[in-house]
Amino acid sequence: MKPTDNPSGIVFDIQHFSVHDGPGVRSTVFLKGCPLTCRWCSNPESQRHQPELLHFGKLCTQCGICVEECPNDALAIAGDELRRDEAACKLCGLCVSVCPQDARQLSGRRMTVEEVSTEVRQHWRIFMQSGGGVTLSGGEVLAQPAFAGALLSALHDDLGFHTCVDTTGFLPWENFERLLPAIDLILLDLKHMDDSRHREATGIGNARILENARRLGERGFPVFVRLPLISDYNDTDENLHALGAFMKEVGLATLEILPYHEFGVSKYTALGKTYTVHSRIEPKADRAASILDDYGLSVTVARR
Ligand code: SF4
Ligand code: SF4
Repeated sequence: MKPTDNPSGIVFDIQHFSVHDGPGVRSTVFLKGCPLTCRWCSNPESQRHQPELLHFGKLCTQCGICVEECPNDALAIAGDELRRDEAACKLCGLCVSVCPQDARQLSGRRMTVEEVSTEVRQHWRIFMQSGGGVTLSGGEVLAQPAFAGALLSALHDDLGFHTCVDTTGFLPWENFERLLPAIDLILLDLKHMDDSRHREATGIGNARILENARRLGERGFPVFVRLPLISDYNDTDENLHALGAFMKEVGLATLEILPYHEFGVSKYTALGKTYTVHSRIEPKADRAASILDDYGLSVTVARR
């Protein structure tokens, strides 16, 4: 990478020693902003493109320290609630650093390619020993194409790391195609095979996602399909058979089932959002795996 070529993007988290986001032990870099609004999203703070504050009311003791420290008088205690004036708040993050209860979190900060590379590079020995590398996740990685492209090129071409991109698949094919030379593996979510049901739970239809999946399969690019399995939504026989047939037809052979979980529910309240998954029954992942096995796919179920 040339010194002049150091773009920046909004990153909301970097997790090290991940074993769920591709082969081996990895660092996962989460980019902020997503065109989808999946109801079950376990990272709802990933959806907006801009940084935002989370407030975990159950942890807050209304001690008032953050109110005193806020340089913009954006905070006030009203009854047993801490209120923030969004217009006055400059998202400086001071209230996060002074809170003794860890009741506040600032999601999203601008980082350069160099800063991200420097952070993940510390773990290169573990990547090499475990067959791991770096995964870009989100949000939707390809919603920040210039940043994602420069970061992938730095990680893959300059540092020689194995790279995965965990994507919704919703971006234009040109965005994908440009980045493929610096990607070793794509983790692609296929959430529902029916367009209207896909739209109902994610806010967008599935036509472009399926078309991108088809193109990747037909060119033999390494792809692991991921199915976030949700009861009474995409665990029906009809959807599972449609998924198996589609993957077989387009030459995608590896599928990981991610059973529904509720790890991110508290973050909805912390963001002032409402969690709208109504059927919170554990889906029958082994049954789904057995249906999909019959299509000759390599199927695994994530146990977390
Ligand atoms: S982020 Fe900064 S401006 Fe906003 S409420 Fe916290 S301390 Fe005040
Ligand atoms: S500093 Fe933390 S615990 Fe105290 S009022 Fe602010 S958010 Fe609540």
